[in-house]
Amino acid sequence: MFSIAIDGPAGAGKSTIAKTIAKKLGFVYVDTGAMYRAMGLYFLRKGVDGQDGETIAAMCPEISVTIEYVDGEQQVLLNGENVSGLIRTEEVGQMASVSSAQPAVRAALLQLQRDMAKSANILMDGRDIGTKVLPDAQLKIFLTASADVRAKRRYDELTAKGVSCDYEVIKQDIIKRDHQDMTRATAPLRQAEDAVLVDSSYMTINQVVEAIIAEYHKVLESSAF
Ligand code: C5P
Repeated sequence: MFSIAIDGPAGAGKSTIAKTIAKKLGFVYVDTGAMYRAMGLYFLRKGVDGQDGETIAAMCPEISVTIEYVDGEQQVLLNGENVSGLIRTEEVGQMASVSSAQPAVRAALLQLQRDMAKSANILMDGRDIGTKVLPDAQLKIFLTASADVRAKRRYDELTAKGVSCDYEVIKQDIIKRDHQDMTRATAPLRQAEDAVLVDSSYMTINQVVEAIIAEYHKVLESSAF
């Protein structure tokens, strides 16, 4: 099996790029952020404080997150309920970022993520895929972009959808999430030593896709795959 790990901060374009590459290569795409978001949604619904490690750890055994594919699109199920349409809000993103720092939350998802990589060629994106979940992935990419560029992309995306928003608020949210993800004790966001750094600040989606596919071919040529 071939595994590609793509890690990087919020808003670097990971999911758009990962989805496109997975389709081109015929790999299964796994969005691990969606799993943390599903757990975050559970905690929000229960009105729990994401920093309250004891309560969160006690709740983890009652949460089951599973993944299904419908027409090739990943669906996330929370205790059997398809929550894919409910997890994309800033509120859920913030709760996911805070609660994912809890070791019990990470432990609950780790095995599921590793098992997914055993049965298919996969492209998995997240924060700790190259460093922790799939340390033996044949190709690791650390995809980043400046906070300004990421905020601008998010602003344009929301504006295009007709959602009124404030650029500065979005930028501060991105900076806050980066800080939370990079400074947590358990599986912080960082570039794996053997990951290829791709800074997408001044690249189009297509250029990033092509650059990563070129890295994939390099691995194929230099190994027995
Ligand atoms: O990538 P996305 O924004 O959907 O992820 C939501 C949050 O889930 C992130 O801010 C991060 O804290 C957490 N996460 C994580 N490890 C992953 C994927 C996401 O901690 N592998």
